[in-house]
Amino acid sequence: MGLGEAYLQVADRTSEPWEDVWFEWRRGSDASYLGATNAPGVGQSSVHRADFIDALVTHLPEGIAQFGKRATQVKQQGDEVQVLFADGTECRCDLLIGADGIKSALRSHVLEGQGLAPQVPRFSGTCAYRGMVDSLHLREAYRAHGIDEHLVDVPQMYLGLDGHILTFPVRNGGIINVVAFISDRSEPKPTWPADAPWVREASQREMLDAFAGWGGAARALLECIPAPTVWALHDLAELPGYVHGRVVLIGDAAHAMLPHQGTGAAQGLEDAYFLA
Ligand SMILES: Cc1cc2nc3c(=O)[nH]c(=O)nc-3n(C[C@H](O)[C@H](O)[C@H](O)COP(=O)(O)OP(=O)(O)OC[C@H]3O[C@@H](n4cnc5c(N)ncnc54)[C@H](O)[C@@H]3O)c2cc1C
Repeated sequence: MGLGEAYLQVADRTSEPWEDVWFEWRRGSDASYLGATNAPGVGQSSVHRADFIDALVTHLPEGIAQFGKRATQVKQQGDEVQVLFADGTECRCDLLIGADGIKSALRSHVLEGQGLAPQVPRFSGTCAYRGMVDSLHLREAYRAHGIDEHLVDVPQMYLGLDGHILTFPVRNGGIINVVAFISDRSEPKPTWPADAPWVREASQREMLDAFAGWGGAARALLECIPAPTVWALHDLAELPGYVHGRVVLIGDAAHAMLPHQGTGAAQGLEDAYFLA
C-alpha cells in the first residue's frame, strides 16, 4: 500500500539489546521473570493510533476525506450504491467499503442480503483498564521502588489469576501504553447490559482494587495512572461472508476480535491490502 516508510517514521521498535523481544513475561505478584517471546528481526513494532492516522492522511489526495458523517442506511440498485447519512445527506458510489467498526451500521445490510439475521457483538467477560504513562514518570517510580528500568523500555506482560497487564512504549518511547485486563469467569455466557456504555472513566482506586494482591512493577505501574478508562471487551461471531452485491465489510465491521494478539487493526489493514 506504499505506507511502509510513513509507518516506520512514527512506529516504535524494541530498543537494543532487546530488539528481538516481542514481550517479556513476568509474574504479576512480584514481576519475577518467566521468559520472553522473541520475534527475530522484528521484536515489537507499535504505533500510537493518532500518529498512524496522520501518516495515512498524508497519502490521501486532497478533498477525498469528509468527517462528521454517520451512515444510517444503504440501498443498492443496479450498478449503484446509495448511502444515507444521519445529517440528511446522501452519497452514490460504484462500490462501498464498510469499515465502520464493531458496532457497524452497514453489517446488517450485508447480512440481510445473504438472508441472515443481524449479528450483535458478544461480551467476553473481560474488561480492560487503560492509560498512557509518561515514560520519565514511570522510570522515576521504578527507580524509587528499586525496579529494573529496562521494564520501561521493553514490552512487558504481567500475569496473574484471571488478569494480565501489558505495557509497551509508543511515541519514540516517550509514552508507555498500559492495558490491564481483568476477567470475571462466574458466568459461562457473560452479558453486558444493552444500555451500558462499553467505555467509561474509572477511578484509580477501582483499578487498584481490581488488581489487589498484585505487587512489584505491576502495582507501581498502575499507581502512575490517576484516571484510567475501562473498556468492556466484545467480539463478533464469525460471519459466513463479508460481501453483498457492491458492498463489502472490512476490519472490525467484518471480524471484530478480542485484543489479546494485538492484531485487530493489523487484520483490517490486511483486508485493505487484499482488496487493493
Ligand atoms: C483494549 C484494546 C486494545 C487493542 N489493541 C490492539 C493492538 O495492540 N493492535 C491491533 O492491531 N489492534 C488492537 N485492538 C483492536 C483495534 O482497535 C481494532 O481492531 C481496530 O480499531 C479496528 O479498526 P476499524 O477501522 O475496523 O474500526 P474502528 O477503529 O472502530 O473505526 C471505525 C470508524 O468508523 C466510524 N463509524 C462508526 N460507525 C459509523 C457510521 N455509521 N458511519 C460513519 N462512520 C462510522 C467510527 O467513528 C470510527 O472512526 C485493540 C482493541 C482494544 C479494545
